[in-house]
Amino acid sequence: MAFGTAGNVALRKAAGAQLSKRGFWVFTEYRYEHPAGAFRLGAHGFARARRALDEGGAAAIGRADGRTLWWTGDAFYWADDEDGEQVALLAWDRRRRDSARIERLRKQRAHEGAAGEARRERVPPDVRTAVWFRDEGRCVECDTEDDLQFDHVIPIAHGGGSAQANVQLLCGDCNRLKSDSLA
Ligand SMILES: [Zn+2]
Repeated sequence: MAFGTAGNVALRKAAGAQLSKRGFWVFTEYRYEHPAGAFRLGAHGFARARRALDEGGAAAIGRADGRTLWWTGDAFYWADDEDGEQVALLAWDRRRRDSARIERLRKQRAHEGAAGEARRERVPPDVRTAVWFRDEGRCVECDTEDDLQFDHVIPIAHGGGSAQANVQLLCGDCNRLKSDSLA
C-alpha cells in the first residue's frame, strides 16, 4: 500500500444505502442496496464481509461508478480508495468527530436553554413557602408586612439562583432601593 494517500481518500456517507436479508439457510441473500442499485452477497460473501469488518473495521462490498461501497457495521461509505484500514480509520474518525460535535451542540443548547430560563426564572412555590416562613412574612430590611416581594439576593442576571438561600422577602420600596443601588 502507498503511504501518504490517507489525506486523499475521499470518504462520503453513502446516503440511502442499507442492508437487507432475503431467503434463508444456503439460499440467504444479503442485499446492500444503494440509490444506483444493489450488491448481492450470498452467505459466503457475507461471512467474508463480516470477517473483514471484525478484523479491519470496514468491508468492501462492491464497486459501482468507479467507487467502492464500504460497510463499517453501522454505516455505509463511498470511497475511491481500496484500502480498508484507511476507510475504517476515516469512518471511525468521522464518527468520533460527529459525536464530539453532537455533545458540544447538546451542551450549547442546554446552556442557551438555561440562560433563557434564567431571564424569566420564577421562585418555585416550595421555595416561596420556605422563605416566607424563614423571613416571618416581613421585609428583611424594614420589617413591614406590606407589599412583599420575593427578591433574588444575587440577581439572576448576575448568576444567582432560585434556591432558598438566594431568595428573601423585600417590600416594594426596599426592592426598588436595592434595584437602584445595583443599577
Ligand atoms: Zn422594606
